[in-house]
Amino acid sequence: MLKIVNFPATILRTKIDEFDFDNPSIDPIELEQAMIATMFAHDGIGLAANQVGISARMFVMGHKDNPESAQAFFNPMVVASIDTIEDLEEGCLSFPGIYVNIKRPKKIKARWQNSKGEWQESEFDGYNCKCFLHELDHLEGIVFQDRVSTLKWAMAVKKTKKRK
Ligand SMILES: [Zn+2]
Repeated sequence: MLKIVNFPATILRTKIDEFDFDNPSIDPIELEQAMIATMFAHDGIGLAANQVGISARMFVMGHKDNPESAQAFFNPMVVASIDTIEDLEEGCLSFPGIYVNIKRPKKIKARWQNSKGEWQESEFDGYNCKCFLHELDHLEGIVFQDRVSTLKWAMAVKKTKKRK
C-alpha cells in the first residue's frame, strides 16, 4: 500500500513529466496495481501518482463496487471537450474531508496509454469526466482549490470543521 501525500506537499505543485515506456522509472503494471489498491483502501474513485509521492505521469480511476473496471491512464490528454459546464461536488484524497462544487466540462474525449503502453481513446461524461479532469489537473500541479474562489473554498473548509 502506498502512502497518500496531503496538501501542501511540493509534489502536488509539480508538473509531472511524460512517462517513458522505453525507459520506465518504475514498473507500470506494478504501479497500476499498487495505485488501484491504495485508491480502494481510501474509498477513492481517482488517484494520481504524485498524490502518493511518485513522479510518474499517470493516474488511476475506478470504483470499489466494480473493481474490474479500475484502470490506469498513462500520459493522459484531452483531445476534445464539450462546452457545457457541469457544477458537481468534488473531494480529494489529499484534502481529507473537504468537498466543494467545481465547474468542469460535461463531456470530454480523451487519449492515454494503458499500463502496457498501448494508446487508448474514449469519451467520458458525468462523474467519470469530472474525475478524469481532476486527476489530470494533479499531473499539472493544479489542485481543486485553484478552481474555486477564495470565499467558496473558505466555506467548504468551514463545513469540514463542523463535521468533526
Ligand atoms: Zn485530488
